[in-house]
Amino acid sequence: MSQGADDFERTIVFGESAVERIRAYRHPAYPRIYEVWYTYATCYNPLLNQAINDVLRKRGTLTEQDLDALYDMHLSASRFPSRYDEVGVKIREEVDEMVAMLDRARVSTDGYGRTLEAVSKTVESADSDKVKTIVEMLIRATYEARKMNGELEEKLVSSKEEMVKLHDKLEAIRAESLTDPLTLLSNRKFFDMALEKALNEGKPFSLLVTDIDHFKNFNDKYGHLTGDQVLRLVASAVKQNVKGQDIAARYGGEEFAIILPGTTLRPAVTVADHIRRAVMGKELVKRSTGENLGRVTISIGVASFHTNDNAATIIERADMCLYAAKRAGRNRVVCETDPEVQSGTNRVA
Ligand code: GH3
Ligand code: MG
Ligand code: MG
Repeated sequence: MSQGADDFERTIVFGESAVERIRAYRHPAYPRIYEVWYTYATCYNPLLNQAINDVLRKRGTLTEQDLDALYDMHLSASRFPSRYDEVGVKIREEVDEMVAMLDRARVSTDGYGRTLEAVSKTVESADSDKVKTIVEMLIRATYEARKMNGELEEKLVSSKEEMVKLHDKLEAIRAESLTDPLTLLSNRKFFDMALEKALNEGKPFSLLVTDIDHFKNFNDKYGHLTGDQVLRLVASAVKQNVKGQDIAARYGGEEFAIILPGTTLRPAVTVADHIRRAVMGKELVKRSTGENLGRVTISIGVASFHTNDNAATIIERADMCLYAAKRAGRNRVVCETDPEVQSGTNRVA
């Protein structure tokens, strides 16, 4: 599972598209403006594209200020840490407020205790007028204590709600950092963590690795932007054929990896074949022109967990199967017990 080496061709298309936009809207070609348009061309950041399209729909153009705001919102390198900081500060404020509230409650309870003590001393030698005053004192003190408890309870409820919101926010940031923006599948980082977890659990599972067939030709013929649409299409075929606890990830450029917990080799081959057929079954139509681009196919290698496996060994076996599938003619699934895996280990270009 190695990255394609033709980043030059792929990225130059994005660069040219960015410069075209800068020219068309007569923006200064500052790096951050370029970065916004470059990212727009890649479609890797769907939220950024959506925000730009919204402004264009409304006003037909974008000002430099619009782009600055979009950059801060969607691209600024510090946006993750600053969002973390924001949540961190809010949590600290909540906790500080809670502690202050509890302090006030303690002072108020101490006061109530002292009042009761004073009352019990005076009541022994009291006449009826005094008893009246004492009862009034008690009522007032009880009222104050109850008010304080009520406020404390209210604060606890609202703090709990705030904490739940902050927790959800952190969860969203975490999910975003583990998601591939182009396909919305898990990214490599998440896959690596999930694979380690599956290995540590030591229960049966299978690993599928997929690679698009002759994808370089496709990119050369139709352009990398259309190639990216194909990546989304393959991702959706993968998504449609996995379920529940399965982990589907974009492992590299045009390579996907899928972990199937609780699944042994044969059933895993069946899942792989469903994915392969789903990809093959989709006819590609270029949205902008309606042009029919034919079909793409994928090859898949399947390996299952062996005791003593580590991440490298199981990935290597699945990879060997993938290369065997390529050697055997592509558009096929090969698993580690198939005879073609043994018949050669050279990678096919
Ligand atoms: P094979 O059947 O042997 O896999 O042939 P291939 O042409 O697909 O060969 P390989 O898997 O080595 O090629 C990877 C190509 O995938 C290189 C590049 O053109 C394309 N690619 C990799 N990442 C991306 C991406 O993010 N977007 C697009 N559009 N293309 C990508
Ligand atoms: Mg490849
Ligand atoms: Mg390929």
